[in-house]
Amino acid sequence: MDEAEIREIVREVLSRVRSGEPPKAERPGIFADMDAAVAAARTTQRMIAAMPMEFREKIIASIRKNILKNAAALSELGVRETGMGKVGHKILKHQLVAEKTPGTEDITTTAWSGDRGLTLVERGPFGVIGAVTPSTNPSETILCNAIGMLAAGNTVVFNPHPGAKNVSNLAVEIVNRASLEAGGPENIAVSLENPTLESGEAMFRHPEIQLIVATGGPGVVTAALSTGKRAIGAGAGNPPALVDETADVPKAAVDIINGASFDNNLPCIAEKEIVAVERVADELLHHMKENGCYHASAAEVEKLMQLVFVRHNGKDVLNRKYVGADASRLLRDIGVDAGDVKLVIFEGSEQHPAIREELMMPIIGLVRVKNVDAGIELCKNLEHGNRHSAHMHSKNVDHLTKFGKALDTAIFVKNGPSYNAIGFGGEGYTTFTIASRTGEGLTSAYTFTKSRRCVMSDSLCIR
Ligand code: NAD
Repeated sequence: MDEAEIREIVREVLSRVRSGEPPKAERPGIFADMDAAVAAARTTQRMIAAMPMEFREKIIASIRKNILKNAAALSELGVRETGMGKVGHKILKHQLVAEKTPGTEDITTTAWSGDRGLTLVERGPFGVIGAVTPSTNPSETILCNAIGMLAAGNTVVFNPHPGAKNVSNLAVEIVNRASLEAGGPENIAVSLENPTLESGEAMFRHPEIQLIVATGGPGVVTAALSTGKRAIGAGAGNPPALVDETADVPKAAVDIINGASFDNNLPCIAEKEIVAVERVADELLHHMKENGCYHASAAEVEKLMQLVFVRHNGKDVLNRKYVGADASRLLRDIGVDAGDVKLVIFEGSEQHPAIREELMMPIIGLVRVKNVDAGIELCKNLEHGNRHSAHMHSKNVDHLTKFGKALDTAIFVKNGPSYNAIGFGGEGYTTFTIASRTGEGLTSAYTFTKSRRCVMSDSLCIR
């Protein structure tokens, strides 16, 4: 089918569905209230369902192009609005979304043919998806979800994190402008001017929402799973990195630094604590210091804890002010001027709160263990049963196998930085929604489809 034919089909579809439609919005996809947002996404989903797959792919190509064009602007706004992360790393994350998020090629069909005919299992859209997105990778998650959900034939209503609404809504606008640019409809993805927890709950309950995709901490995943609807839950992690006595220690040090300092440790997959076998622990610390880490003393760690945690309702909770902050800023605020530092490292016990908690800050604690078995046990304990991500540096395949089986996580990176898991410097596609809790793992277009069996009785088998 050539371009002119595709345009003609789409023009026909659009004029049929759009009769009486209001003029294009100034900010395409952004609505004042949830009901209007869902209704618009519903209308567009009907158009998408009527389009050839080829046209979906054409819109996706335009979205990819526009992500690349706007990567710097999105990254700058993201850091400015949330106060978290690093502009340069966020640009890389947007490029990764544009280049490695699967499109319609991800939607595969299964077929059986024989004497009794032809049976297909095709993957169809759910319809309108309701998605909540985090403040840590706001526009990256929206753009990645939007591509996958559209490839699968859905439209999506986002209720972004209120603390990242501007950058999230800019991403939604970019998706819709890209679609319009390709001759497609607006409202492929929609969002609210002022998202709140209440608007998120209203979205969950809305009868037109067929599938919920929750990317965030444990609270939102539990809320999504309690709706009585199908939900994909991409929750929190606390990924350990285990280094055993067979590891290439200088390389392990650099890999852990690169993974744990990426976007100031915001990614849920990033190394959050190190467990090192005694025999290599000093060597590992040495190479980390040689490669841009600041080794904090016990007294400095104590001061850092006063910044990192605040008292709330009688409990120590994360101080959001420092989530995703630069290591040099954390150090400066305890009176240490260490220049340009990638990570703060320290030694602590397995009970240390900065080792047990998911900090999402460039501070990483190291716990010594006497051997690999003790290390595997400890990593399992520190991962808290999230079954999200865990990483290991070792040349011993038996150790690696034992760790992989014991940790039972959606992601297990061996001998590399954690971001290899999402296709950055590693093989495979990317995603920013890792469904650890509900088991879909690294989501893609296929995850956002439902199974439909289509049976031709007694015919069409030509074997
Ligand atoms: P968060 O849980 O504070 O917020 C995530 C989203 O959920 C926001 O849009 C928020 O408004 C919404 N939300 C929270 N409670 C809700 C409720 N009861 N009902 C409806 N909506 C609700 O998360 P954050 O701090 O922005 O992001 C960091 C957390 O997300 C970390 O724990 C991180 O590990 C996790 N995360 C996981 C993945 C993954 O793919 N598994 C990806 C990114 C972040």
